[in-house]
Amino acid sequence: MTNCTRLFLTFGYFFRNYSLNCTAATNYSTLSRNMSSMNALVSNKVALITGASSGIGEATAKSLAQSGVKVCLAARRQGRLQTIKNQIMAAGGLAYQYALDVTDLTQFQSVVEDIENNVGPIDILINNAGVMYYTHMKNVMVSDWDRTIDVNCRGVTNGISCVLPGMVRRNTGHIVNMSSDAGRRGFPGLAVYSGTKFFVEGLSQGLRHEVKDHNIRVTCIQPGDCATEIVNYTIDNDAAREYGTAGTGKILNPEDVANAILYAVMQPGHVAVNEVLVEPRQIPI
Ligand code: NDP
Repeated sequence: MTNCTRLFLTFGYFFRNYSLNCTAATNYSTLSRNMSSMNALVSNKVALITGASSGIGEATAKSLAQSGVKVCLAARRQGRLQTIKNQIMAAGGLAYQYALDVTDLTQFQSVVEDIENNVGPIDILINNAGVMYYTHMKNVMVSDWDRTIDVNCRGVTNGISCVLPGMVRRNTGHIVNMSSDAGRRGFPGLAVYSGTKFFVEGLSQGLRHEVKDHNIRVTCIQPGDCATEIVNYTIDNDAAREYGTAGTGKILNPEDVANAILYAVMQPGHVAVNEVLVEPRQIPI
């Protein structure tokens, strides 16, 4: 494996079956005054989190809910969302559940309409849903490429199109786009995926300039390798063998990335966290 390979543990993840009850109880009882005043910056806000049914989206939803955010969980797998919603509610948070394929603009529009009518105006959109397939370009896995572009690019523009007019009208909002360290440099085996994350970066940079005077912030989160299910869907075995094998060093947990998102959305109004590169210490880009 070359040192420019994006190291990844393809197999053998052990997912922590954590109890939000315990975490929430501990967190609530140890909140410092500082933390309380930071929570006040997001408490009672409404956040729509796409791809909330696993991994980084799930961890982010739980972490925002602990800070008092009303979290709207969106994804296709409703059973998973139901469990996560129940865990959040049992810990004293507020969560709502929506069936959403982010590539379907009409569905996205009706989810946003439902939220705005029944929960409240969306203050924070977390465009997190994404797919990643290791592919060798020479193997021409066009359907994987198309799917990656549809979810990672069109899913993000669909989300922005649904919430931005309302944010502009209300003169407030925060859009958090899930990029990647692959949005800062291309990785072999992830050429198309890297391309989609470069798209997210370019889109976010342009958008940020356009909306800054509407009091809207745009943040790109750029994680490195993180232990989620995303690697399980690769079907190009050549690419998986060559690029998706175990590296050395501990990779990120979804909660590590959720912490970066929480940091970005908890800043006072004059502060914009435009991008956060969060990497496993031993695997810098
Ligand atoms: P997961 O596979 O755990 O989560 C992906 C989420 O996206 C799931 O909730 C899935 O829900 C959702 N999703 C996929 N396709 C669609 C769709 N068409 N419509 C709606 N939701 C969809 O992976 P991660 O948590 O790792 O991925 C989250 C984001 O983080 C992605 O954007 C990814 O690119 C990014 N990222 C991940 C890194 C990593 O190393 N894990 C590193 C850098 C960035 P469902 O199937 O239920 O619809």
